[in-house]
Amino acid sequence: MTDNERAAQIAKLIKPLRVKPGSRVKLPADFDPRYKFDGLTKKDSARLLRTGIEMLSDYQARLAAQDTYGLLVCLQALDAGGKDGTIRHVMSGVNPQGVQVSSFKVPSAEELDHDYLWRYAKRLPARGDIAIFNRSHYEEVLVVRVHPENLDREKLPAECKGKDVWQRRYREINDWERYLTDNGFKIVKLFLNLSKEEQRVRFLKRIDLPEKNWKFSAADVRERGHWDEYQKAFSQMLTATSTPWAPWYVIPADRKWFARVCAAAVIAAALIDIDPQYPPVTEQTRLDLLEVKKELEAQAPKGAAADPFKDALPERDKRPLLCNTWLSSLLSSRCSPLSHRLPLPSPPRRPRSWPSTRRSSRARGWARGRRRRCGPPVSVRRKPASLTRPCGTSCTCPWAAWTSGSGSPTSLAWGRCTSTTFASR
Ligand code: AMP
Ligand code: MG
Repeated sequence: MTDNERAAQIAKLIKPLRVKPGSRVKLPADFDPRYKFDGLTKKDSARLLRTGIEMLSDYQARLAAQDTYGLLVCLQALDAGGKDGTIRHVMSGVNPQGVQVSSFKVPSAEELDHDYLWRYAKRLPARGDIAIFNRSHYEEVLVVRVHPENLDREKLPAECKGKDVWQRRYREINDWERYLTDNGFKIVKLFLNLSKEEQRVRFLKRIDLPEKNWKFSAADVRERGHWDEYQKAFSQMLTATSTPWAPWYVIPADRKWFARVCAAAVIAAALIDIDPQYPPVTEQTRLDLLEVKKELEAQAPKGAAADPFKDALPERDKRPLLCNTWLSSLLSSRCSPLSHRLPLPSPPRRPRSWPSTRRSSRARGWARGRRRRCGPPVSVRRKPASLTRPCGTSCTCPWAAWTSGSGSPTSLAWGRCTSTTFASR
């Protein structure tokens, strides 16, 4: 499956879960906690989740390398809704260095001494990072609303505690999220929607299984007594804060395996939308690297190969300058008509001797080049007329040859590149 097909499949999968901005939500009527796709089985879901996890890992590496965008994932649910398990499974493939998980409990004295968004702002992601909020600033319009004594503890001045406090908080949260989005921080909001019966069963499991006893809290059962108030507070929150820049997704949570697939899909869709790119390698950097390479090769001890790694590569990959020049020029040709979702040639066949980590990152690199951001949308299958002629120095030789169908990248394209760049090696 191509990247574009996969992106389309993900978009289709998550569409029914999205709360349309401006729509009025009434739980439990509007979203069924037991919903799943027709025909999808638990067995299929394992494969889907694996794919999702691989995508997240891949995109996170690019997000970190680009260091321009950040991603904030907010998870909200009632007790036993599956927040911890979702984080554990969905994020299992990502590099822990690029992800921070923050859980928000009853606010501390220090936190209560600040404005209500303070403690959440402190845990926002840096550029290049993913931050996960296990409970989030939305607690401020959920538990605080269901138990107004929490609002008293927040020490607000009297004039700030009027009846309109909740509407004001929705507005402030929307504005805050818009500000973050406008500054390169994308926000994914997931509400794990659990049924009352499934919560009862999960609580019982926590009591029955000794290894789950630690998770059981009598306070959670007391909160269950406020089920209807919570449903109302969630409904109003979803209605007021699902915005075009940060929409809510209601994840059916009665089947854990389905909830995890959905959560992975929504997060993957956000990353696909960001479309982070590895920084392009400039011609100068490349030449500098080759200088250093020469020096290192000259230092090889007697009897050792000058570059053992290069010798293990197949023929076509012994041409790093050519390959990288071509790819990087492609990546940096942002305004060329070729730069939007173009088909790249298939990845090179890899020899068995290729070390596995390098192999996968290399193969991924090829797939990544498929999505470009600017220029008019171009179907992967249909070749627009503009591609039959070269459109500029940065993307003329191999790309034009390939897209005009006049040659394969391994034969004609490599041949054409033996101009100055190739000769300068
Ligand atoms: P848990 O996530 O099960 O460890 O529980 C955390 C508890 O902290 C939950 O009962 C939340 O309702 C509560 N909590 C989280 N944020 C707030 C807040 N801003 N004000 C009051 N209680 C909160
Ligand atoms: Mg709890």
